[in-house]
Amino acid sequence: MQITSKLPNLGTTIFTVMSGLANQHNAINLSQGFPNFDCDPKLKNLVSHYVQNGYNQYCPMTGLPTLTQRLANKIEHLYQVAYNPKTEINITSGATQAIFSTIHAFVHAGDQVIIVEPAYDCYQPSIQLAGGIVVPYQIKAPDWKIDWEAFGQLITPKTKMIILNTPHNPSGSILIDDDYQALQKLVADTNILILSDEVYEHMIYDGQKHCSILSYPALRKRSLAVYSFGKTLHATGWKLGYIVADEALMYEFRKVHQFDVFSSNTPMQYAIADYLEDESTYLGLANFFQQKRDLFLDKIKDSPFEFIPSAGTYFQVADYSAISDEPDTEFAKRMTIEYGVAVIPISVFYHNNLDNKVVRFCFAKTEDVLEEAGKLIKTIQPK
Ligand code: PMP
Ligand code: GLN
Repeated sequence: MQITSKLPNLGTTIFTVMSGLANQHNAINLSQGFPNFDCDPKLKNLVSHYVQNGYNQYCPMTGLPTLTQRLANKIEHLYQVAYNPKTEINITSGATQAIFSTIHAFVHAGDQVIIVEPAYDCYQPSIQLAGGIVVPYQIKAPDWKIDWEAFGQLITPKTKMIILNTPHNPSGSILIDDDYQALQKLVADTNILILSDEVYEHMIYDGQKHCSILSYPALRKRSLAVYSFGKTLHATGWKLGYIVADEALMYEFRKVHQFDVFSSNTPMQYAIADYLEDESTYLGLANFFQQKRDLFLDKIKDSPFEFIPSAGTYFQVADYSAISDEPDTEFAKRMTIEYGVAVIPISVFYHNNLDNKVVRFCFAKTEDVLEEAGKLIKTIQPK
């Protein structure tokens, strides 16, 4: 039988590859982004409660009303904008599904979608499956800034969508007000949509505030913003998230959402709705993760890696050019196998595998693991 692949050039995601290698070699896994600690027992008890008490059938397609209402309050409080919980917020099976469904709801064959590389790896295949054309804009170490004039030159009459991600995975950089002002000018008088991936909204450091696209009235009407409970609740395995957009956009989103997933896990939605009543559960995350970032950086500061502290996400990128001139994919493998610390090479997030000799560490780990990783990293010898 002959199979004609729809994604002939695509291999297995780097997260599966590097976590597999870490397990195989018993390395500390700072590659794939997930905490090595559990979520709050209070949250787990709430899930058990709802499972045991019969909340086990389909949820409404749009999400549990008490949860979407809770999220509407959260958004209004944090970003000073009122979204209608019934018509403008939808629970999804992770941010990945929200991204996939959004792209499929809006991108027609031949439409161009601008993405910022290094780009989270689910954007490109989703665009290609929709028949869209990926138009990459590349940001680079060490400042990872977008030059909006150069970015604007990528816009054509065929540009349907721009995908942004702040705080940015993998670089740890963030968009600030100036970025949104520039973007606003670029897209004024166009029909360009913006998909804003804000899954790390609460992981932002050094007193900075997350700038959400939802706070910008001129951008809001053309934007869909996605979030992940996996990140916010230390429960990446639950694969739950949500999407926020004006009613007209949400109407189109739901046409796809209802047939690629219909609805998401019911007892967990009940549990999360109760749990988020206490806003310290998410407002405390910046401090919580900043301590981890600082501990990790303290442990590697005397190593040959060069870095600028991450502004957001639970990732830290570091330049290894003082250690080796190997390609980053080879270096990441060698770090895992020879030194026992698995990392992610950044080149895989560029369509042309641009290799800046930078790797990504995930610091969403307990102190003992960060300390142990720091010790191993300090033993790395220049080659
Ligand atoms: N976007 C970014 C930038 C991510 O890092 C991730 C990974 N967790 C996702 C989307 C996907 O989130 P989820 O696990 O909720 O699908
Ligand atoms: N978002 C996580 C990361 O960037 C991984 C998600 C996944 O494994 N698909 O590492």
